[in-house]
Amino acid sequence: MKTKGSRQHKVNIVTLGCSKNQVDSEVLLTQLKGNRIDATHESKKDDANIVVINTCGFIDNAKQESIDTILRYVDAKEEGIVEKVYVTGCLSQRYKDDLEKEIPKVDAWFGTRDLSRLLKQLNADYKQELVGERILTNPGHFAYLKISEGCDRPCSFCAIPLMRGNHISRPQEELVLEAKNLARNGTKELLLIAQDSTYYGLDLYKKRALAELLRKLSDVEGIEWIRLHYAFPTGFPMDVLEVMAEKKNICKYLDIPLQHGSTEMLQMMRRGTTREKTEVLLQTIREKVPNIAIRTTLIAGHPGETEKHFDEMMSFVERSRFDRLGVFPYSHEENTHSYSMKDDIPEKIKQDRVERLMGLQEGISLELNQSKVGKVFKVLVDRKEEGIYMGRTEYDSPEVDNEVILKSSEYVRLGDFVEAKVTNATEFDLHAEVI
Ligand code: SF4
Repeated sequence: MKTKGSRQHKVNIVTLGCSKNQVDSEVLLTQLKGNRIDATHESKKDDANIVVINTCGFIDNAKQESIDTILRYVDAKEEGIVEKVYVTGCLSQRYKDDLEKEIPKVDAWFGTRDLSRLLKQLNADYKQELVGERILTNPGHFAYLKISEGCDRPCSFCAIPLMRGNHISRPQEELVLEAKNLARNGTKELLLIAQDSTYYGLDLYKKRALAELLRKLSDVEGIEWIRLHYAFPTGFPMDVLEVMAEKKNICKYLDIPLQHGSTEMLQMMRRGTTREKTEVLLQTIREKVPNIAIRTTLIAGHPGETEKHFDEMMSFVERSRFDRLGVFPYSHEENTHSYSMKDDIPEKIKQDRVERLMGLQEGISLELNQSKVGKVFKVLVDRKEEGIYMGRTEYDSPEVDNEVILKSSEYVRLGDFVEAKVTNATEFDLHAEVI
């Protein structure tokens, strides 16, 4: 299709936010190419006349980054660099009515479940036959596999259900087909993502079916690592631990956001659990899957959090000795349950609490990493930076966890597994020699 002037119709997709958004952008890219439309992802060249911005609307900083990106491309449109600017994703889903008025130069706004309509706008048709196919936008040896969309949980602070809608599991056949296609194209590591991966199947199969899905995915030839993210503590399906312990190619790794370590706060946050139940769950996970690495995320400064609640969270982190920890300051999000409460913790105190928790974790992480010195690990080589190879063990997820800084006298191909002996460790990285 020809647009203004003689320039060829080319779409540049820009992705903000989380891995789920990345998968959505990859699906859009695959559908466009499947329609023989020239498309690219985050092209730095000004050769695309249409830009689609897949936005994030999670918390303040992410929202600001999305708005800045939109304004940057609206300016580019003014300068004639691009002809059309379309916006999709969470920010658009959540604030479309306001944004349409505030940024009228955007050509059209789409929600998080508007793929067909967006494709139409780009003169493309949704191709069912492409389900299970996906062009990756990260190095091909690992891939995110989105097993469901949306969330049915009532967590007080969270705006995600407002943007992503209710929980919808993807059929196992479709996920296995996608895993096979990815493996055929060289993917060795699958990262299972969702808003709540442990809820998988409750809608579609009327039962928790994550363990079943893991078993089927672990039989896909070529997949050497399967990593589980976004587990939810309440109603955690214990059969998942059996499959994890049994199957060699399921990483001994679990990302399970817990959000707080005080029972009163967990109740205020509507997490449906208590500190005691959480500690029992962590103990059971470690008993059933020896040497498992547990990643979690916590929120500091939720309305109503007293110094006493915070001390409880500090002692929870001290006792639980998480392998990986992320801490976020509470963000007061409209239309969430917490928004009806007073955001009574000053920003400075929120930040201070985040730093105190991360300070505590730094010491724990250093001890845990130092206990790995002298040991040999299977490492997936992700990239080379200034002549140095960087990789990960099965205990580390890309972009969020530790890295292994590799020394090798031989050439190493990116995307390959190597055996490496740890020679040194810092808070958040391991140094190792390929053997
Ligand atoms: S489970 Fe996660 S995505 Fe769902 S409401 Fe809770 S915090 Fe939000």
